[in-house]
Amino acid sequence: MSFFDEKVQDLYDEVVARNPGEVEFHQAVREVFDSLGAVLVKHPHYADAGIIERLCEPERQIIFRVPWVDDTGAVRINRGFRVEFNSALGPYKGGLRFHPSVYLGVIKFLGFEQIFKNALTGLPIGGGKGGSDFDPKGRSDGEIMRFCQSFMTELYRHIGEHTDVPAGDIGVGGREIGYLFGQYKRITNRYESGVLTGKGLSWGGSQVRTEATGYGVVFFVREMLNARGQDLDGKRVVVSGSGNVALYAIEKVHQLGGRVVACSDSGGYVVDDDDGINLELLKEIKGVHRGRVSDYAEKRGAPAYFVSSGSIWDVPTDIAIPCATQNELDSDDAASLIANGCTIVAEGANMPSTPEAIKALSSSGVLFAPGKAANAGGVATSALEMQQNASRDSWSFEHTELRLAQIMRGIHENCLSTADEYGAPGDYVLGANIAGFTHVADAMLALGVI
Ligand code: NDP
Repeated sequence: MSFFDEKVQDLYDEVVARNPGEVEFHQAVREVFDSLGAVLVKHPHYADAGIIERLCEPERQIIFRVPWVDDTGAVRINRGFRVEFNSALGPYKGGLRFHPSVYLGVIKFLGFEQIFKNALTGLPIGGGKGGSDFDPKGRSDGEIMRFCQSFMTELYRHIGEHTDVPAGDIGVGGREIGYLFGQYKRITNRYESGVLTGKGLSWGGSQVRTEATGYGVVFFVREMLNARGQDLDGKRVVVSGSGNVALYAIEKVHQLGGRVVACSDSGGYVVDDDDGINLELLKEIKGVHRGRVSDYAEKRGAPAYFVSSGSIWDVPTDIAIPCATQNELDSDDAASLIANGCTIVAEGANMPSTPEAIKALSSSGVLFAPGKAANAGGVATSALEMQQNASRDSWSFEHTELRLAQIMRGIHENCLSTADEYGAPGDYVLGANIAGFTHVADAMLALGVI
Protein backbone atom coordinates (compact mmCIF):
# COMPACT_ATOMS: atom_id res chain seq x y z
CA MET A 1 0.00 0.00 0.00
CA SER A 2 1.42 3.39 -0.98
CA PHE A 3 1.49 6.35 1.40
CA PHE A 4 -1.44 7.90 -0.47
CA ASP A 5 -3.50 4.69 -0.42
CA GLU A 6 -2.91 4.56 3.34
CA LYS A 7 -3.99 8.17 3.65
CA VAL A 8 -7.21 7.39 1.76
CA GLN A 9 -7.82 4.30 3.94
CA ASP A 10 -7.43 6.44 7.09
CA LEU A 11 -9.88 8.98 5.70
CA TYR A 12 -12.37 6.21 4.90
CA ASP A 13 -12.10 4.75 8.42
CA GLU A 14 -12.83 8.22 9.77
CA VAL A 15 -15.93 8.56 7.56
CA VAL A 16 -17.26 5.22 8.84
CA ALA A 17 -16.60 6.19 12.46
CA ARG A 18 -18.26 9.61 12.05
CA ASN A 19 -21.32 8.24 10.25
CA PRO A 20 -22.17 5.00 12.06
CA GLY A 21 -24.72 2.63 10.52
CA GLU A 22 -25.00 4.53 7.23
CA VAL A 23 -23.89 1.59 5.10
CA GLU A 24 -25.03 2.93 1.72
CA PHE A 25 -23.14 6.17 2.38
CA HIS A 26 -20.01 4.21 3.33
CA GLN A 27 -20.34 2.20 0.09
CA ALA A 28 -20.63 5.32 -2.08
CA VAL A 29 -17.65 6.94 -0.35
CA ARG A 30 -15.53 3.76 -0.67
CA GLU A 31 -16.25 3.62 -4.39
CA VAL A 32 -14.95 7.15 -4.93
CA PHE A 33 -12.03 6.74 -2.51
CA ASP A 34 -10.83 3.64 -4.37
CA SER A 35 -10.03 5.96 -7.29
CA LEU A 36 -8.37 8.74 -5.30
CA GLY A 37 -4.96 7.29 -4.37
CA ALA A 38 -3.67 8.00 -7.89
CA VAL A 39 -5.00 11.58 -7.77
CA LEU A 40 -3.25 12.37 -4.51
CA VAL A 41 0.04 11.07 -5.87
CA LYS A 42 -0.26 13.53 -8.76
CA HIS A 43 -1.88 16.39 -6.82
CA PRO A 44 -0.97 16.15 -3.11
CA HIS A 45 -2.28 19.69 -2.54
CA TYR A 46 -5.85 18.31 -2.46
CA ALA A 47 -4.98 16.33 0.65
CA ASP A 48 -3.14 19.28 2.23
CA ALA A 49 -6.23 21.48 1.85
CA GLY A 50 -8.51 18.92 3.52
CA ILE A 51 -10.63 18.67 0.38
CA ILE A 52 -11.56 15.02 0.90
CA GLU A 53 -12.64 15.47 4.52
CA ARG A 54 -14.69 18.51 3.55
CA LEU A 55 -16.31 16.66 0.63
CA CYS A 56 -17.52 13.90 2.97
CA GLU A 57 -19.19 16.29 5.41
CA PRO A 58 -22.44 17.75 4.05
CA GLU A 59 -22.64 21.54 4.21
CA ARG A 60 -26.08 21.20 5.81
CA GLN A 61 -28.44 18.36 6.80
CA ILE A 62 -32.10 19.05 7.46
CA ILE A 63 -34.39 16.46 9.06
CA PHE A 64 -38.02 17.29 9.73
CA ARG A 65 -41.42 15.94 10.75
CA VAL A 66 -44.04 15.55 8.02
CA PRO A 67 -47.52 15.22 9.54
CA TRP A 68 -50.48 14.52 7.25
CA VAL A 69 -54.00 13.12 7.39
CA ASP A 70 -54.94 9.97 5.44
CA ASP A 71 -58.28 9.30 3.75
CA THR A 72 -59.71 7.68 6.89
CA GLY A 73 -58.96 10.79 8.92
CA ALA A 74 -56.02 9.21 10.78
CA VAL A 75 -52.96 11.36 11.47
CA ARG A 76 -49.76 9.98 9.95
CA ILE A 77 -46.18 11.03 10.63
CA ASN A 78 -43.25 10.62 8.27
CA ARG A 79 -39.70 11.89 8.35
CA GLY A 80 -38.41 14.34 5.73
CA PHE A 81 -34.78 14.92 4.71
CA ARG A 82 -32.78 17.36 2.65
CA VAL A 83 -29.02 16.98 2.63
CA GLU A 84 -27.29 19.99 1.06
CA PHE A 85 -23.98 18.38 0.36
CA ASN A 86 -21.78 20.67 -1.69
CA SER A 87 -22.36 24.03 -3.37
CA ALA A 88 -18.88 24.77 -4.75
CA LEU A 89 -20.11 24.61 -8.37
CA GLY A 90 -23.63 26.00 -8.02
CA PRO A 91 -26.88 25.70 -6.05
CA TYR A 92 -27.47 22.29 -4.48
CA LYS A 93 -29.21 20.11 -7.05
CA GLY A 94 -30.64 16.63 -6.71
CA GLY A 95 -33.92 14.78 -6.47
CA LEU A 96 -36.39 13.84 -3.77
CA ARG A 97 -37.07 10.16 -3.07
CA PHE A 98 -40.29 8.93 -1.44
CA HIS A 99 -39.81 5.29 -0.43
CA PRO A 100 -40.11 3.38 2.87
CA SER A 101 -36.41 2.44 2.72
CA VAL A 102 -35.33 6.09 2.97
CA TYR A 103 -33.24 7.12 5.98
CA LEU A 104 -30.31 9.49 6.41
CA GLY A 105 -27.73 6.98 5.06
CA VAL A 106 -29.62 6.57 1.77
CA ILE A 107 -30.03 10.32 1.27
CA LYS A 108 -26.33 10.88 2.05
CA PHE A 109 -25.18 8.22 -0.41
CA LEU A 110 -27.35 9.77 -3.10
CA GLY A 111 -26.23 13.31 -2.24
CA PHE A 112 -22.55 12.32 -2.21
CA GLU A 113 -22.83 10.66 -5.65
CA GLN A 114 -24.71 13.70 -6.90
CA ILE A 115 -21.74 16.01 -6.25
CA PHE A 116 -19.53 14.15 -8.72
CA LYS A 117 -22.30 13.45 -11.22
CA ASN A 118 -23.25 17.10 -11.37
CA ALA A 119 -19.61 18.11 -11.72
CA LEU A 120 -19.26 15.69 -14.65
CA THR A 121 -22.07 17.41 -16.56
CA GLY A 122 -19.89 20.54 -16.72
CA LEU A 123 -22.96 22.61 -15.72
CA PRO A 124 -23.07 25.01 -12.74
CA ILE A 125 -24.82 22.78 -10.18
CA GLY A 126 -23.80 21.62 -6.72
CA GLY A 127 -24.91 18.36 -5.08
CA GLY A 128 -27.82 17.60 -2.77
CA LYS A 129 -30.58 15.07 -2.25
CA GLY A 130 -33.71 14.67 -0.17
CA GLY A 131 -36.81 12.65 0.40
CA SER A 132 -38.94 10.86 2.92
CA ASP A 133 -39.73 7.40 4.26
CA PHE A 134 -43.30 7.97 3.01
CA ASP A 135 -44.61 5.03 0.94
CA PRO A 136 -46.71 6.34 -1.96
CA LYS A 137 -47.81 2.84 -3.01
CA GLY A 138 -51.58 2.43 -2.74
CA ARG A 139 -52.12 6.03 -1.64
CA SER A 140 -54.92 8.06 -3.23
CA ASP A 141 -54.27 11.26 -5.19
CA GLY A 142 -55.63 13.26 -2.26
CA GLU A 143 -53.25 11.58 0.19
CA ILE A 144 -50.28 12.18 -2.13
CA MET A 145 -51.24 15.84 -2.44
CA ARG A 146 -51.62 16.36 1.31
CA PHE A 147 -48.32 14.63 1.97
CA CYS A 148 -46.51 16.76 -0.65
CA GLN A 149 -48.05 19.95 0.75
CA SER A 150 -46.96 19.08 4.28
CA PHE A 151 -43.46 18.14 3.09
CA MET A 152 -43.11 21.47 1.28
CA THR A 153 -44.46 23.43 4.26
CA GLU A 154 -41.10 22.76 5.92
CA LEU A 155 -38.86 22.38 2.87
CA TYR A 156 -39.76 25.74 1.30
CA ARG A 157 -37.63 27.73 3.75
CA HIS A 158 -34.47 25.84 2.71
CA ILE A 159 -34.76 25.95 -1.09
CA GLY A 160 -34.73 28.56 -3.87
CA GLU A 161 -33.52 28.90 -7.44
CA HIS A 162 -30.12 30.22 -6.26
CA THR A 163 -29.96 28.03 -3.15
CA ASP A 164 -31.21 24.50 -3.61
CA VAL A 165 -33.25 23.07 -6.48
CA PRO A 166 -34.91 19.67 -5.87
CA ALA A 167 -36.35 17.39 -8.56
CA GLY A 168 -37.85 13.87 -8.74
CA ASP A 169 -36.42 10.45 -7.95
CA ILE A 170 -38.02 7.15 -6.90
CA GLY A 171 -41.67 7.79 -6.01
CA VAL A 172 -41.54 11.44 -7.10
CA GLY A 173 -42.66 12.16 -10.66
CA GLY A 174 -44.56 14.92 -12.45
CA ARG A 175 -47.65 14.64 -10.21
CA GLU A 176 -45.65 15.09 -7.00
CA ILE A 177 -43.52 17.93 -8.43
CA GLY A 178 -46.80 19.68 -9.31
CA TYR A 179 -48.16 19.44 -5.76
CA LEU A 180 -44.79 20.49 -4.30
CA PHE A 181 -44.49 23.48 -6.64
CA GLY A 182 -48.08 24.52 -5.97
CA GLN A 183 -47.48 24.61 -2.22
CA TYR A 184 -44.16 26.48 -2.64
CA LYS A 185 -45.92 29.09 -4.78
CA ARG A 186 -48.75 29.42 -2.29
CA ILE A 187 -46.51 29.85 0.75
CA THR A 188 -44.01 32.23 -0.83
CA ASN A 189 -46.36 34.08 -3.19
CA ARG A 190 -43.65 33.79 -5.86
CA TYR A 191 -43.85 32.11 -9.25
CA GLU A 192 -40.24 31.02 -8.91
CA SER A 193 -40.06 28.46 -11.72
CA GLY A 194 -36.41 27.64 -11.14
CA VAL A 195 -36.99 26.32 -7.60
CA LEU A 196 -37.92 22.81 -8.75
CA THR A 197 -37.23 20.87 -11.93
CA GLY A 198 -39.24 18.13 -13.58
CA LYS A 199 -42.20 20.51 -13.89
CA GLY A 200 -45.04 20.03 -16.38
CA LEU A 201 -44.55 21.51 -19.84
CA SER A 202 -47.38 24.04 -19.45
CA TRP A 203 -45.99 25.49 -16.21
CA GLY A 204 -42.27 25.92 -16.65
CA GLY A 205 -41.01 22.42 -17.42
CA SER A 206 -38.52 21.49 -20.11
CA GLN A 207 -38.98 19.25 -23.10
CA VAL A 208 -37.05 15.98 -22.65
CA ARG A 209 -36.74 16.27 -18.84
CA THR A 210 -39.13 13.34 -18.34
CA GLU A 211 -37.20 11.22 -20.82
CA ALA A 212 -33.73 12.54 -19.97
CA THR A 213 -32.28 9.99 -17.55
CA GLY A 214 -33.42 6.99 -19.61
CA TYR A 215 -32.47 8.56 -22.93
CA GLY A 216 -29.18 9.74 -21.46
CA VAL A 217 -28.06 6.31 -20.28
CA VAL A 218 -28.75 4.89 -23.73
CA PHE A 219 -26.85 7.75 -25.38
CA PHE A 220 -23.96 6.84 -23.07
CA VAL A 221 -24.20 3.18 -24.13
CA ARG A 222 -24.20 4.31 -27.77
CA GLU A 223 -20.95 6.21 -27.12
CA MET A 224 -19.42 3.13 -25.48
CA LEU A 225 -20.34 1.04 -28.52
CA ASN A 226 -19.30 3.69 -31.06
CA ALA A 227 -15.89 4.01 -29.40
CA ARG A 228 -15.45 0.31 -30.25
CA GLY A 229 -16.82 0.51 -33.78
CA GLN A 230 -20.25 -0.93 -32.88
CA ASP A 231 -23.82 0.30 -32.49
CA LEU A 232 -27.08 -0.70 -30.83
CA ASP A 233 -28.68 -2.14 -33.91
CA GLY A 234 -29.91 -5.70 -33.25
CA LYS A 235 -28.56 -5.82 -29.68
CA ARG A 236 -30.55 -7.58 -26.95
CA VAL A 237 -30.98 -5.43 -23.87
CA VAL A 238 -32.35 -6.09 -20.38
CA VAL A 239 -33.59 -3.07 -18.41
CA SER A 240 -34.56 -3.52 -14.77
CA GLY A 241 -37.31 -1.41 -13.21
CA SER A 242 -40.33 0.01 -15.03
CA GLY A 243 -40.40 3.53 -13.62
CA ASN A 244 -39.33 6.82 -15.13
CA VAL A 245 -35.74 5.88 -15.97
CA ALA A 246 -36.55 2.39 -17.23
CA LEU A 247 -39.45 3.40 -19.49
CA TYR A 248 -37.43 5.95 -21.41
CA ALA A 249 -34.32 3.78 -21.56
CA ILE A 250 -36.51 1.16 -23.23
CA GLU A 251 -37.92 3.77 -25.61
CA LYS A 252 -34.50 5.00 -26.72
CA VAL A 253 -33.07 1.48 -27.12
CA HIS A 254 -35.96 0.68 -29.46
CA GLN A 255 -35.51 3.94 -31.38
CA LEU A 256 -31.83 3.10 -31.92
CA GLY A 257 -32.54 -0.41 -33.24
CA GLY A 258 -31.97 -2.51 -30.12
CA ARG A 259 -34.54 -4.81 -28.50
CA VAL A 260 -35.40 -4.74 -24.79
CA VAL A 261 -36.48 -8.27 -23.86
CA ALA A 262 -37.14 -7.90 -20.11
CA CYS A 263 -38.03 -5.34 -17.44
CA SER A 264 -39.19 -5.53 -13.81
CA ASP A 265 -40.67 -4.01 -10.69
CA SER A 266 -40.33 -4.97 -7.06
CA GLY A 267 -42.85 -7.82 -7.61
CA GLY A 268 -40.79 -9.65 -10.27
CA TYR A 269 -39.83 -9.43 -13.93
CA VAL A 270 -41.42 -9.92 -17.30
CA VAL A 271 -39.76 -11.47 -20.36
CA ASP A 272 -41.11 -10.56 -23.79
CA ASP A 273 -38.65 -11.95 -26.28
CA ASP A 274 -40.74 -11.85 -29.44
CA ASP A 275 -40.74 -8.24 -30.63
CA GLY A 276 -39.36 -6.95 -27.36
CA ILE A 277 -41.25 -5.10 -24.62
CA ASN A 278 -44.35 -3.35 -25.98
CA LEU A 279 -43.75 0.13 -24.64
CA GLU A 280 -47.18 1.50 -25.40
CA LEU A 281 -48.79 -1.19 -23.24
CA LEU A 282 -46.18 -0.85 -20.50
CA LYS A 283 -46.63 2.94 -20.36
CA GLU A 284 -50.38 2.55 -20.14
CA ILE A 285 -50.14 0.03 -17.30
CA LYS A 286 -47.45 1.88 -15.36
CA GLY A 287 -48.19 5.51 -16.20
CA VAL A 288 -51.98 5.55 -16.45
CA HIS A 289 -53.11 2.72 -14.15
CA ARG A 290 -50.07 2.66 -11.83
CA GLY A 291 -50.16 -1.14 -12.28
CA ARG A 292 -47.54 -3.92 -12.12
CA VAL A 293 -45.39 -5.69 -14.72
CA SER A 294 -47.39 -8.85 -13.88
CA ASP A 295 -50.41 -7.03 -15.38
CA TYR A 296 -48.32 -6.42 -18.50
CA ALA A 297 -47.62 -10.15 -18.94
CA GLU A 298 -51.30 -10.95 -18.39
CA LYS A 299 -52.53 -8.37 -20.92
CA ARG A 300 -49.85 -9.16 -23.47
CA GLY A 301 -50.29 -12.95 -23.28
CA ALA A 302 -47.86 -15.66 -24.50
CA PRO A 303 -45.04 -15.75 -25.33
CA ALA A 304 -44.57 -12.93 -22.77
CA TYR A 305 -44.33 -14.33 -19.24
CA PHE A 306 -43.93 -13.11 -15.69
CA VAL A 307 -41.44 -14.44 -13.13
CA SER A 308 -42.12 -13.59 -9.49
CA SER A 309 -38.90 -15.00 -8.01
CA GLY A 310 -35.31 -15.20 -9.24
CA SER A 311 -33.34 -12.49 -10.93
CA ILE A 312 -33.91 -10.50 -14.11
CA TRP A 313 -30.14 -10.73 -14.70
CA ASP A 314 -30.55 -14.43 -15.53
CA VAL A 315 -32.20 -13.40 -18.82
CA PRO A 316 -29.53 -13.67 -21.56
CA THR A 317 -28.57 -10.27 -22.95
CA ASP A 318 -25.85 -8.33 -24.76
CA ILE A 319 -26.36 -5.21 -22.67
CA ALA A 320 -27.70 -4.77 -19.12
CA ILE A 321 -29.13 -1.45 -17.90
CA PRO A 322 -30.14 -1.57 -14.21
CA CYS A 323 -32.73 1.19 -13.68
CA ALA A 324 -34.49 0.23 -10.42
CA THR A 325 -32.63 0.80 -7.16
CA GLN A 326 -29.37 0.48 -5.20
CA ASN A 327 -27.63 -2.91 -4.88
CA GLU A 328 -30.05 -4.71 -7.18
CA LEU A 329 -27.24 -6.41 -9.14
CA ASP A 330 -24.96 -8.57 -6.98
CA SER A 331 -22.05 -10.91 -7.66
CA ASP A 332 -24.34 -13.86 -8.53
CA ASP A 333 -26.15 -11.65 -11.03
CA ALA A 334 -22.80 -10.53 -12.44
CA ALA A 335 -21.79 -14.18 -12.86
CA SER A 336 -25.02 -14.89 -14.80
CA LEU A 337 -24.49 -11.89 -17.04
CA ILE A 338 -20.89 -12.92 -17.75
CA ALA A 339 -21.87 -16.55 -18.42
CA ASN A 340 -24.55 -15.39 -20.87
CA GLY A 341 -22.13 -13.21 -22.86
CA CYS A 342 -23.18 -9.74 -21.71
CA THR A 343 -20.61 -7.16 -22.85
CA ILE A 344 -21.87 -3.87 -21.34
CA VAL A 345 -23.45 -2.92 -18.01
CA ALA A 346 -24.53 0.73 -17.77
CA GLU A 347 -26.15 2.01 -14.58
CA GLY A 348 -29.39 3.94 -15.08
CA ALA A 349 -30.12 3.75 -11.35
CA ASN A 350 -27.88 5.10 -8.59
CA MET A 351 -25.42 2.49 -7.27
CA PRO A 352 -27.45 -0.52 -8.49
CA SER A 353 -24.37 -2.77 -8.63
CA THR A 354 -22.64 -4.05 -5.51
CA PRO A 355 -18.86 -3.54 -5.27
CA GLU A 356 -18.38 -7.31 -5.70
CA ALA A 357 -20.48 -7.28 -8.88
CA ILE A 358 -18.46 -4.37 -10.33
CA LYS A 359 -15.23 -6.20 -9.56
CA ALA A 360 -16.45 -9.41 -11.22
CA LEU A 361 -17.73 -7.61 -14.31
CA SER A 362 -14.59 -5.54 -14.76
CA SER A 363 -12.22 -8.45 -14.28
CA SER A 364 -14.16 -10.42 -16.92
CA GLY A 365 -13.77 -7.63 -19.46
CA VAL A 366 -17.40 -6.46 -19.31
CA LEU A 367 -17.51 -2.70 -19.94
CA PHE A 368 -19.01 -1.05 -16.87
CA ALA A 369 -20.45 2.49 -16.79
CA PRO A 370 -21.17 3.82 -13.27
CA GLY A 371 -24.39 5.73 -12.61
CA LYS A 372 -22.66 8.98 -11.80
CA ALA A 373 -21.62 9.15 -15.46
CA ALA A 374 -24.25 7.09 -17.28
CA ASN A 375 -27.38 8.49 -15.59
CA ALA A 376 -26.25 12.13 -15.43
CA GLY A 377 -28.57 13.03 -18.31
CA GLY A 378 -31.48 13.60 -15.91
CA VAL A 379 -29.77 16.20 -13.79
CA ALA A 380 -28.12 17.74 -16.85
CA THR A 381 -31.53 18.32 -18.41
CA SER A 382 -32.74 19.70 -15.09
CA ALA A 383 -29.95 22.27 -15.40
CA LEU A 384 -31.20 23.00 -18.94
CA GLU A 385 -34.68 23.48 -17.45
CA MET A 386 -33.17 26.00 -14.99
CA GLN A 387 -31.51 27.82 -17.91
CA GLN A 388 -34.84 28.07 -19.73
CA ASN A 389 -36.61 29.27 -16.56
CA ALA A 390 -33.95 31.93 -15.94
CA SER A 391 -34.27 33.27 -19.48
CA ARG A 392 -38.09 32.90 -19.64
CA ASP A 393 -37.58 30.75 -22.71
CA SER A 394 -38.55 27.26 -23.82
CA TRP A 395 -36.65 25.16 -26.28
CA SER A 396 -37.93 22.61 -28.78
CA PHE A 397 -37.77 18.87 -28.11
CA GLU A 398 -35.19 18.39 -30.88
CA HIS A 399 -32.90 21.15 -29.62
CA THR A 400 -33.06 19.91 -26.01
CA GLU A 401 -32.47 16.30 -26.99
CA LEU A 402 -29.48 17.34 -29.06
CA ARG A 403 -28.06 19.22 -26.05
CA LEU A 404 -28.59 16.09 -23.92
CA ALA A 405 -26.84 13.88 -26.47
CA GLN A 406 -23.90 16.34 -26.62
CA ILE A 407 -23.62 16.41 -22.83
CA MET A 408 -23.58 12.60 -22.65
CA ARG A 409 -20.91 12.50 -25.37
CA GLY A 410 -18.86 15.02 -23.39
CA ILE A 411 -19.14 12.98 -20.18
CA HIS A 412 -18.14 9.82 -22.04
CA GLU A 413 -15.09 11.53 -23.56
CA ASN A 414 -14.13 13.04 -20.21
CA CYS A 415 -14.30 9.62 -18.47
CA LEU A 416 -12.22 7.94 -21.15
CA SER A 417 -9.57 10.66 -21.42
CA THR A 418 -9.23 10.86 -17.62
CA ALA A 419 -8.90 7.08 -17.39
CA ASP A 420 -6.19 7.24 -20.08
CA GLU A 421 -4.39 10.04 -18.24
CA TYR A 422 -4.28 7.92 -15.08
CA GLY A 423 -3.06 4.81 -16.89
CA ALA A 424 -6.32 2.84 -16.77
CA PRO A 425 -7.71 2.90 -20.34
CA GLY A 426 -11.40 1.98 -20.59
CA ASP A 427 -11.97 2.21 -16.81
CA TYR A 428 -15.13 4.30 -16.65
CA VAL A 429 -15.35 4.08 -12.85
CA LEU A 430 -11.90 5.57 -12.33
CA GLY A 431 -12.43 8.12 -15.11
CA ALA A 432 -15.78 9.31 -13.72
CA ASN A 433 -14.59 9.49 -10.13
CA ILE A 434 -11.41 11.39 -10.89
CA ALA A 435 -12.91 13.76 -13.48
CA GLY A 436 -15.81 14.60 -11.13
CA PHE A 437 -13.56 14.93 -8.10
CA THR A 438 -10.95 17.21 -9.65
CA HIS A 439 -13.61 19.52 -11.09
CA VAL A 440 -15.30 20.09 -7.74
CA ALA A 441 -12.03 20.02 -5.77
CA ASP A 442 -10.54 22.82 -7.88
CA ALA A 443 -13.59 24.99 -7.23
CA MET A 444 -13.38 24.27 -3.49
CA LEU A 445 -9.72 25.24 -3.45
CA ALA A 446 -10.51 28.52 -5.19
CA LEU A 447 -13.26 29.38 -2.69
CA GLY A 448 -11.05 28.97 0.37
CA VAL A 449 -11.77 27.05 3.56
CA ILE A 450 -15.54 27.46 3.90
P1 NDP B 1 -39.46 5.31 -10.20
O1 NDP B 1 -40.08 5.39 -8.86
O2 NDP B 1 -40.12 5.98 -11.34
O3 NDP B 1 -39.24 3.78 -10.59
C1 NDP B 1 -38.49 2.90 -9.82
C2 NDP B 1 -38.66 1.51 -10.42
O4 NDP B 1 -37.78 0.61 -9.79
C3 NDP B 1 -40.07 0.97 -10.23
O5 NDP B 1 -40.41 0.16 -11.33
C4 NDP B 1 -39.89 0.12 -8.97
O6 NDP B 1 -40.85 -0.92 -8.82
C5 NDP B 1 -38.54 -0.46 -9.24
N1 NDP B 1 -37.95 -0.94 -8.00
C6 NDP B 1 -37.75 -0.26 -6.86
N2 NDP B 1 -37.20 -1.04 -5.94
C7 NDP B 1 -37.04 -2.24 -6.53
C8 NDP B 1 -36.52 -3.48 -6.11
N3 NDP B 1 -36.05 -3.64 -4.86
N4 NDP B 1 -36.49 -4.51 -7.00
C9 NDP B 1 -36.97 -4.36 -8.26
N5 NDP B 1 -37.49 -3.21 -8.71
C10 NDP B 1 -37.52 -2.18 -7.85
O7 NDP B 1 -37.96 5.84 -10.01
P2 NDP B 1 -36.95 6.36 -11.12
O8 NDP B 1 -37.14 5.60 -12.37
O9 NDP B 1 -37.01 7.84 -11.14
O10 NDP B 1 -35.55 5.98 -10.45
C11 NDP B 1 -34.93 4.72 -10.63
C12 NDP B 1 -33.45 4.81 -10.29
O11 NDP B 1 -32.83 5.80 -11.11
C13 NDP B 1 -33.15 5.24 -8.84
O12 NDP B 1 -31.96 4.63 -8.43
C14 NDP B 1 -32.92 6.75 -8.98
O13 NDP B 1 -32.14 7.25 -7.93
C15 NDP B 1 -32.17 6.76 -10.30
N6 NDP B 1 -32.16 8.05 -10.99
C16 NDP B 1 -33.33 8.67 -11.32
C17 NDP B 1 -33.29 9.88 -11.98
C18 NDP B 1 -34.53 10.54 -12.48
O14 NDP B 1 -34.40 11.52 -13.25
N7 NDP B 1 -35.72 10.09 -12.14
C19 NDP B 1 -32.01 10.56 -12.27
C20 NDP B 1 -30.84 9.75 -11.98
C21 NDP B 1 -30.93 8.57 -11.32
P3 NDP B 1 -42.06 -0.75 -7.76
O15 NDP B 1 -43.03 0.15 -8.47
O16 NDP B 1 -42.54 -2.13 -7.59
O17 NDP B 1 -41.49 -0.16 -6.51
